[in-house]
Amino acid sequence: MDKININEFTLEELENYILDLGEKKFHAKQIFKWIHKYKILNFDEMTDISKSLRDKLKEKTYILNMEVIECQKSKKDGTMKFLIKLDDNCAIESVFMRYNHGNTLCVSTQVGCKMGCKFCASTKEGFRRNLQASEIEGQILTVERYTNEKISNVVYMGIGEPLDNFDNTLKSIEIINDPQGLNIGARHISLSTCGIVPKIYELADKNIQCTLSISLHATTDEKRRDIMPIANKYSINELIDACKDYIKKTGRRISFEYALIKGKNDSYEDALALAKLLRSMIAHVNLIPVNEIKEKDYKKANEQSIKNFMNTLNSMGIVTTVRRELGSDIDAACGQLRKKYIENNKKLQ
Ligand code: SF4
Repeated sequence: MDKININEFTLEELENYILDLGEKKFHAKQIFKWIHKYKILNFDEMTDISKSLRDKLKEKTYILNMEVIECQKSKKDGTMKFLIKLDDNCAIESVFMRYNHGNTLCVSTQVGCKMGCKFCASTKEGFRRNLQASEIEGQILTVERYTNEKISNVVYMGIGEPLDNFDNTLKSIEIINDPQGLNIGARHISLSTCGIVPKIYELADKNIQCTLSISLHATTDEKRRDIMPIANKYSINELIDACKDYIKKTGRRISFEYALIKGKNDSYEDALALAKLLRSMIAHVNLIPVNEIKEKDYKKANEQSIKNFMNTLNSMGIVTTVRRELGSDIDAACGQLRKKYIENNKKLQ
């Protein structure tokens, strides 16, 4: 019989499992704490659990351990990019960043991505599989173990489209939220999507209180289609309607990500159109100086045009920031490190 990955249980599921084993329910809390708060990897370290229960758990379950294959550290700002191996030799990336408001981890939700955004290296090697909830949360446990530092914010912005792995993404948030575990509140979690409209409505109905980030990157359907294939499926108007529904149901402000690409979407007219599109919503714009990708001919917008773009939006009442560039001396753009590794190591996927 295959052993069960014990990290995959929410606390409620673990309580039911422990009851099924004929044990007392309160042990579930203890076990959950050992795994998700104290991050232990060995059942024998659960010192307040009887040996007989530990033996039962060892026989039927295992604790997920994800291996760090490589960690690149930026000399400029301490950003750390992790390449992490999963049980089936799939590789994913997580990025650890230091901000004034606390350490932030950018996590992956899929191995590869189907969405095909043209500025993104994650999509280049195709799609392998969805991550399980425990593999999403496990990135935090792995990086906290490695760095010995606490992570206080999580952004679902690594490899993969979180809303294309909806159930596992939501389950991972429940596990991350749990006060017995990592205890990271929903308001410290940001979920980024390229704009899968029906899933935005579904997410709004769940009212999880996490921050929703929309990768917008263009203000006309034509321009957006050129950068993001998802725009062939849903128009900008449909996307904005879904965003308004999200704001209405959750009361949360939405963050719009806008990667500035030189000569493509960084003009004064683009800034005006963006302000017009968002002015009736509680929104925030996060401008991203796009990371140049070798294979694509996208170039980073220059500093002056980034400033002008921001000033235009701010002057029209749209709160706008420029994302601080972290890890510019390492393979920080999403998917680049994995891609390099797969090319050199045929065993990895
Ligand atoms: S930007 Fe996100 S959704 Fe688009 S291809 Fe990359 S990982 Fe997928």
